[in-house]
Amino acid sequence: MDYCTVEPWDPTIGQRFGEAMSNLDNQTDLYDTYMNPCGTQTDLGAHRNGVTGEVELPDNVLGMYICTKRMPSVARCDQASLIFNIRSSWLQSRTWGWNSTQLANARRNVLCHEIGHAVGVYHDTGVGGCMNSTLSTQVLYYPQHHVDHINAAH
Ligand SMILES: [Zn+2]
Repeated sequence: MDYCTVEPWDPTIGQRFGEAMSNLDNQTDLYDTYMNPCGTQTDLGAHRNGVTGEVELPDNVLGMYICTKRMPSVARCDQASLIFNIRSSWLQSRTWGWNSTQLANARRNVLCHEIGHAVGVYHDTGVGGCMNSTLSTQVLYYPQHHVDHINAAH
């Protein structure tokens, strides 16, 4: 999967995106490559909410995955966008006073979740991991159940 950010991201979030993609590599059979700039090769292009992106998210929605180009005649996605609501005042109020490690992990948690949607897994149904929609500084990984789904689908 080729991924990119559609404009340069500050390392405080850009490195989290890279880590979350590396985690996907490490946990699954997928192989991901950071390929900037975004272009026709892009599978997953990441946006900051309110800066670029196809839609603008409500303040309390931290991220979204949108398939922007479907494969012809197949129910699969060819190109997609990940929108990260890094400027959310709701997020800022929730994370007020957190140290840099906690903040970094919370961002990893959100990105892990949206990348999970990009590879076809849905919300946590009691199996744990980052597909639970609750913001967390601890849960940065996919549970084995989701890893199995991701490997089976790709
Ligand atoms: Zn979700």
